[in-house]
Amino acid sequence: MELFTYQMNPSRVVFGSGTINRAPSELSRLKLSKPFLLSTPSRTPHIQDLSKVLEARSITPTGVFTEATMHTPVAVTEKAVAEAQAAGSDCVISPGGGSTIGLGKAISARTGLYHLCIPTTYAGSEVTPILGETEMGEKTTYSNPSILPGTVIYDVDLTMTLPVGFSAISGVNAIAHAVEAMYAENSNPIIRMLAQEGVRALAESLPQIINDPSHQDARRAALYGSWLCGTCPGNVGMSLHHKLCHAIGGTLSLPHAETHTIVLPHVLSYEAPKVPGAMEALAMGLNILLKKLKVPRDLESLGVKEGDIPKIVAAAVKKPYYSPRAVEEKLLTELVRRAWAGELAR
Ligand code: NAD
Repeated sequence: MELFTYQMNPSRVVFGSGTINRAPSELSRLKLSKPFLLSTPSRTPHIQDLSKVLEARSITPTGVFTEATMHTPVAVTEKAVAEAQAAGSDCVISPGGGSTIGLGKAISARTGLYHLCIPTTYAGSEVTPILGETEMGEKTTYSNPSILPGTVIYDVDLTMTLPVGFSAISGVNAIAHAVEAMYAENSNPIIRMLAQEGVRALAESLPQIINDPSHQDARRAALYGSWLCGTCPGNVGMSLHHKLCHAIGGTLSLPHAETHTIVLPHVLSYEAPKVPGAMEALAMGLNILLKKLKVPRDLESLGVKEGDIPKIVAAAVKKPYYSPRAVEEKLLTELVRRAWAGELAR
C-alpha cells in the first residue's frame, strides 16, 4: 500500500432535517450565549428563522450583519468585525453559502470568536481551513487550522429554497473539489474514498433535483455529497483548476460556482494525458452530467471578454498551484479560450 499522510480536521458535524433547532444546544454545550448572525442581503429569511429558534431558548443574538459578499472583500470583513466586537459577541453563526461562511471564517480568524456554520449551498467551505479574501482586485487564499469552523449544522430543509440553476452549478463546484483531490500531489486513499462517494451522491442527486427541486431525498444526498467533496480541499492540495478559477473569479469578480462549472471539463481534458484512464472517464461523465443539468458552458455569458484572456492566464501562472501536467502559457491560453467560447472540452 502507498505511504500517505491523512490530516483529520476536528470539526463537529450535525446532519439531518430540522437540525437548525439544534443551534441553541450546540451553543450551550460550549457555554456560548452571545451569537452574532451573518447573511447575504437576500438570505435574511434564514436569519429570521434562526433568531426565532435561538430566542425560544432565551439566547438573544447580539447583532445581525447582512452584507456578506462573494470572495470575502476585506473592507466588508473589517466592518463586520467592528460590529461583532462592539456588540460583545462570543461567537458568530453563518447560515448561508460560501460567501456568508467565508465572512464567518474571516471574522473568526481575526477575533478568535467561535464559528458555527449552517451551510445552505453545496460549496463546502464549512469543512475547510481555507479562506480566500479579496483586496484591490486580487484574491489571496490562505490556510490555517484556526480558520476551520468549529461546528457545522447541515439542515436539508434550508437547502430546499436553493434555485434549481444554482443547485446545479453549486453541485458541480463541489464535484470540482473531489476531482482535484483524485490527482492531488498529496492525495491519499481516505480522501479518494470520500471524493468518490461525494461525486457519486451528487451525480445521482443533481439531475433528480433539476426534475423536482422539492425532492427531499435528492436534496439530502446532494448536501451529504457536498460535505464529502468539501472535505477534500481541507485535506489535500488543490491544483490547476482551483488556481484558474481563483484567477478568473478574483481578477474579474465573477461568480464562483458558475466559473467552476464552465472551467472544470477543460481542466480535466488538459490533465488527462498525465492522469490517464480515470480522468478521461471522468471528463466524459462530466460532459454528460453537465448536459443533463443544462448549465452555462461559456465564460463569455458571464461577461468575460476575449481580451481578458491574457490577464487571466497571467494571474493563473503567477505563483502556480501543483498541476500533474506542466502549465504552459500557450496551452493554458487555448484552454481559457475554449472555456470562454463555450467549445466542448478536448
Ligand atoms: P454564495 O454564498 O455567494 O450564494 C449565492 C447566492 O445564493 C447568494 O445570493 C445567497 O444569498 C443565495 N443563497 C444561498 N443559500 C440559499 C438558499 N438555500 N436558498 C436560496 N438562496 C440561497 O455562493 P457559494 O457558491 O455558496 O459561495 C461562493 C463563495 O464561497 C466564494 O466567495 C468562494 O470563494 C467561497 N468558497 C470558499 C471555499 C473555501 O474552502 N474557502 C470553498 C468553496 C467556496
